[in-house]
Amino acid sequence: MVKAVVGANWGDEGKGKITDTLAAEADIIIRFQGGANAGHTIKNKYGKFALHALPSGVFYDHTTSVIGNGVALNIETLCGEIKSLVDQGVPAPKILVSDRCQIVMPYHVLFDQYEEERLGGKSFGSTKSGIAPFYSDKYAKIGFQVSELFDDELLKEKVYRVLETKNILMEHLYHKPAIDPEETLATLRKYRDMIAPYVCDVSLFLDKAIKEGKTILLEGQLGTLKDPDHGIYPMVTSSSTLAAYGAIGAGVPPYEIKQIITVCKAYSSAVGAGAFVSEIFGDEAVELRNRGGDGGEYGATTGRPRRVGWFDCVASKYGCRLQGTTDVAFTVLDVLGYLDEIPVCTGYDINGEVTTEFPVTHLLEKAKPVIKKLPGWKCDIRGIRNYDELPKECRDYIDFVEEQIGYPITMVSNGPAREDIIYRDSKIK
Ligand code: GDP
Repeated sequence: MVKAVVGANWGDEGKGKITDTLAAEADIIIRFQGGANAGHTIKNKYGKFALHALPSGVFYDHTTSVIGNGVALNIETLCGEIKSLVDQGVPAPKILVSDRCQIVMPYHVLFDQYEEERLGGKSFGSTKSGIAPFYSDKYAKIGFQVSELFDDELLKEKVYRVLETKNILMEHLYHKPAIDPEETLATLRKYRDMIAPYVCDVSLFLDKAIKEGKTILLEGQLGTLKDPDHGIYPMVTSSSTLAAYGAIGAGVPPYEIKQIITVCKAYSSAVGAGAFVSEIFGDEAVELRNRGGDGGEYGATTGRPRRVGWFDCVASKYGCRLQGTTDVAFTVLDVLGYLDEIPVCTGYDINGEVTTEFPVTHLLEKAKPVIKKLPGWKCDIRGIRNYDELPKECRDYIDFVEEQIGYPITMVSNGPAREDIIYRDSKIK
């Protein structure tokens, strides 16, 4: 049985925590897209970890953690993360890396930095991890697959060939020193030795696992609104964030994905530039940002303050629809306990017309939020384990959001730890 855990919005919805919780009942957890540019924050008995490359189930000793072919693999980040876990007392994880996975090259990181510098004020707010140059090269068919590291002759010919064009950009567009092919080759040989213990034919491994009835979790990075096709293009990421892409980025048949758990946070947050209709500012924003998540809404990779806002029913309904949601996990609800009234964005006013359907980017830029205020519950709901014990106002908030988005909220997360999860029967099927 294959399940996907994906985000409905801009990312940082708490997918890491939900994956970690569900991993208790899973055999294999696989990352299928993205790179080490975003992070999941996990809190457990070993400590608090910001994972960038490894899947979230890596702390259990019964699970196998897999890096699928769709991922932008940064070998140094991955191996550094494995080492830091072991150093902090986590049992040595079982890790597999697809032989078809492509490698983030040192020059991808440089090009990402230089291009953001060149764009100045018009930059994309990239984390400068090389992700956009990586995926550009992948689709331009000049990327390097893990399997290629093991053929030195091929590697040499390709490095020289690819750097010929890269160095023209390096010197004449960015006015930076040319990259030395021999240095790149030396790095790749080092990468080969670092990654060798983990390399595997992942789609074959997963095919066997499916036939044996194993439970496989596909762990998404970011959320629907960062998808290059269905998100807020061009302020998106460079790989598909949708559950459907899990089939490709992991190498499983699409019809094997039986459950799609879309994670929605009880308020909104976003990093980087791009339209964010329900965004709030000033003291109101500072308070939500500092109370948000677990220790404030600051990026797990960059430490950047996240933009925050109220729950956006329009964006979340759309986000859930594109994911093909079977279940919604509604997270970080405990954070809203300080509010007398909870504002929710129920519609977008675009040129005087109100819509509840998420528009294309140029119309989105014009949208003003239509806000409804619901009564707050004014207490701490952490530690509650039964749905019926949640305050009435809190259950009303969940019911309201569920009705607006139209997908069943079957899990409610009321704290950062694995145990902080409440299962719920939804009226929506
Ligand atoms: P992801 O990228 O979707 O995995 O999200 P992040 O890990 O970046 O952000 C979620 C943050 O919220 C992390 O700091 C989590 O520890 C924290 N978190 C997750 N679920 C809850 C919750 O229900 N309540 C609280 N207070 N924090 C949570």
